[in-house]
Amino acid sequence: MSSKKVRVRFAPSPTGGLHLGGVRTVLYNYLFAKQHKGDFILRTEDTDQGRYVPGAEKYIFDCLRWTGLEPDESAIHGGEYGPYRQSERKSMYKTYAAQLIKDGYAYYAFDTPEELEKMRADFKTESNPSPQYDHNIRGKMRNSLTLSAEEVQQLLDAGTRHVVRIKMPQHETVSFTDMIRGEVSFDTSVVDDKVLLKADGMPTYHLAVVVDDYLMKITHAFRGEEWLPSAPVHVLLWKYLFGLDNMPEWAHLPLILGTNGKLSKRDGAKYGFPVFAMNWLDPKTNELTEGFKEKGFLPEAFINMLALLGWNDGTAQELFTKQELVEKFSMDRVHSGGAKFDYEKAKWFNHEWIKRLPAAALAQQVKPFFEAKGINIADEKLLSAVIDLVKERCHLLTDLVEQGSFFFVMPEKFDVDAVKPKWNEAKQLFFAEVIRNFELGTTWNATELEHNFKEIAAANQIKPGEVLLPLRIMLVGGKFGPHVFDIAALLGKDETIRRIKYFLGLL
Ligand code: GLU
Repeated sequence: MSSKKVRVRFAPSPTGGLHLGGVRTVLYNYLFAKQHKGDFILRTEDTDQGRYVPGAEKYIFDCLRWTGLEPDESAIHGGEYGPYRQSERKSMYKTYAAQLIKDGYAYYAFDTPEELEKMRADFKTESNPSPQYDHNIRGKMRNSLTLSAEEVQQLLDAGTRHVVRIKMPQHETVSFTDMIRGEVSFDTSVVDDKVLLKADGMPTYHLAVVVDDYLMKITHAFRGEEWLPSAPVHVLLWKYLFGLDNMPEWAHLPLILGTNGKLSKRDGAKYGFPVFAMNWLDPKTNELTEGFKEKGFLPEAFINMLALLGWNDGTAQELFTKQELVEKFSMDRVHSGGAKFDYEKAKWFNHEWIKRLPAAALAQQVKPFFEAKGINIADEKLLSAVIDLVKERCHLLTDLVEQGSFFFVMPEKFDVDAVKPKWNEAKQLFFAEVIRNFELGTTWNATELEHNFKEIAAANQIKPGEVLLPLRIMLVGGKFGPHVFDIAALLGKDETIRRIKYFLGLL
């Protein structure tokens, strides 16, 4: 690698939510930048005004803040290479388009939408059902290649609507070395003459991405595999405008697949693919979408899981902190084949991270989930103790709420039916004695409670197994939760006795 300071970019179009693939692109950019003590830039590619979704840019920034992958430079972080929104850079692109025309690499095209439609109808054949504007066709259209210089000037002077197109060379091979795929080659004849500058004066993505990567001194460009077919256009633009020596190194990241192949929209809905809920309705379902955050994923687990979707360090290690990823990540260990996303595996990562993180850190993240259920927690120490007690059995933060809310509020329901059929006078008397014993107790800890409980059972000739489940249901409402005397210890004397009494009343 050259000695230039590493500068990488994530270049999202603010057209919707940020999904798994997008965040993984962010992550790989971020890890690579931090590893090389470089800069991570976020550039908003908002030149397609028709697809612009208000709020989408803020949503992207919020996602990056939540995942902890904040850019060094962006429209909101500032930086020396701004503006970082392409719509605010509009005037810069014209000069480059003009240079390309002057050098014979691009041309003005004056074709109206009707003329383009007619072209597609006229040149349609069985083997070519959707003809492109390319080297075969451009000689038959209304553009600065077919019109005289005077005609072109007249049209321009009259303000005739036009676009600027790249003149793709015929039968040339364009190749470059992809950091993941190695040498990749394209035949330029199969690529159409892409529009570079639109009629409204806005550049298209193709021109803007090359100009901005140059002006922002980008050294490495990592993006999704779906951009590979556009790469020959970009390589040629680099060659025509700035010389290939200055071109960033490219890496086209593999697709993320569902367990049965390509990720479908349905999978998206099922797995909550956006990072978190979008505050706009999904145009397809007209519903608010839920994302990983709302599902109860930890950012630590989320990025760990994402890093491993397409990369590993060559060992069996699966759990990595962000810092470890920064140290170990390398583009040459990214697979070129698609990476399979498995929701159950994602939950496994989250489970491991719930176990790993200190309770105090989890407490901060889980509090809003409790609040969403109307449970406001004032006692942070109690929350931490509860988390430590139940976290082994939790995969999602929402599980912590399910497993832990009865420590803060009475259970909503008590599974009386699980107790009733086997209930009898002896058990009634037994629990009355337990209450008396617990009321008299001076120390309140799990060992002592268990000891006393079992002694009373023995004295009443009751097998502890017959009264443990009822006790659990009295305290938590159902057949779940950690060791029942740990629960009682943490609930405290008054609340434990109150719940036993309350339940006896229900029977
Ligand atoms: N604006 C493109 C996108 O939305 C960026 C592709 C690239 O990184 O070159 O994915």
